[in-house]
Amino acid sequence: MNSPANVPAKTCRDAPILKERGQREVFCGLTGIIWLHRKMQDAFFLVIGSRTCAHLLQSAAGVMIFAEPRFGTAILEESDLAGMADAHEELDREVERLLSRRPDIKQLFLVGSCPSEVIKLDLARAAVRLTQVHAPHVRVLNYSGSGIETTFTQGEDACLASMVPVLPSADQRELLLVGALPDVVEDQAVSLLTQMGIGPIRVLPAPRTAEAPGVGPNTLFACLQPFLGDTAAAITRRGAHHIQAPFPFGEEGTTLWLRAVADEFGVDDETFERVTAAPRARARKAIANASEHLHGKTIFFLPDSQLEIPLARFLTRECGMEAIEIGQPYIHKGLVGPDMDLIPAGPTISEGQDVDKQLDRVRAARPDLTVCGLGLANPLEAEGLTTKWAIELVFTPVHFYEQAGDLAGLFSRPVRRRALLKLEAAE
Ligand code: SF4
Repeated sequence: MNSPANVPAKTCRDAPILKERGQREVFCGLTGIIWLHRKMQDAFFLVIGSRTCAHLLQSAAGVMIFAEPRFGTAILEESDLAGMADAHEELDREVERLLSRRPDIKQLFLVGSCPSEVIKLDLARAAVRLTQVHAPHVRVLNYSGSGIETTFTQGEDACLASMVPVLPSADQRELLLVGALPDVVEDQAVSLLTQMGIGPIRVLPAPRTAEAPGVGPNTLFACLQPFLGDTAAAITRRGAHHIQAPFPFGEEGTTLWLRAVADEFGVDDETFERVTAAPRARARKAIANASEHLHGKTIFFLPDSQLEIPLARFLTRECGMEAIEIGQPYIHKGLVGPDMDLIPAGPTISEGQDVDKQLDRVRAARPDLTVCGLGLANPLEAEGLTTKWAIELVFTPVHFYEQAGDLAGLFSRPVRRRALLKLEAAE
């Protein structure tokens, strides 16, 4: 059994949480469509939104316009917003047009937005109605990607949670991996687990609707991302058992995550060591090389991606950084508790955002590195602070052993760049 080394006596799990409610600076849940549409090859994401929503998607996923896209926006016009037109009838017509043109679509997500929520367009009712019309060829589901009171990674959580009630029932003992990782990273995880003799392994989301995993009381599931609280709750309601562990960032996080899964499947120590020894050594070496500039540096996390607590664990324990504040939009201790158990008490743990107050704390602390949203990075850089865009951590492969060095590199690059700029200025 691999227990974590250096478990602190007083940890962040028991630290008081500073709860903030105020103005927020985050992207909305529509952002998740950018990575989800790549994972689900016969799905289509139809955003019911405004021109702003369409622009967000187009600019974030601009490279896709040359391919047959698997997302689009049904734009609510002023007459819809004023209640002068029947938005449901128009939606039915749009869906009919789309599905007759695209027989490859097997799963259609109606994605709510701020405008559709403001006019209280009932997309759940629309999804039931449209499923009746288009079954069995197409299944229609709905979720909200709106930016009202949410953050950008919650789009994936809402999408996966919407699929859980329609997953088939399963009786056999299976491992379900939950979360959309780049294929190459997912393959590495499945390969390590398979080498330990663990299986069958299923993944949510599946690449195709027909390959959707089953779920039931003998399903054991492990989350790959710390922002899947609603999905984890929905799978638990179906009777499955949640394997809790630190998230697989860095060598230590990956080892503890794999160990938690291996323990559930009765993998012996010798097998675990045989499978993990070489990639662990590679990860340690890569982290040591990439984190040279991070040792002794301070870091401040503004709440954005929901990855903040597991990343703070990685950076403080494996890269020698010191966390001043770890802000996360929502703190689900059922998901990030095992990571909090490994972070010594000391940094401020904050939940939610009141951006002006947080920026005041950043300015007072002058950290060596601030992790924040895109909109805050440039102003902070202009004030001489070094920043890292939180959204990059979701778009870059960072999980498991082979990406551990790249993960450290994402943080060390801006610190190094700032040091070089200072050198140049001094010459
Ligand atoms: S869902 Fe809301 S926050 Fe997101 S692009 Fe549309 S209007 Fe903007």
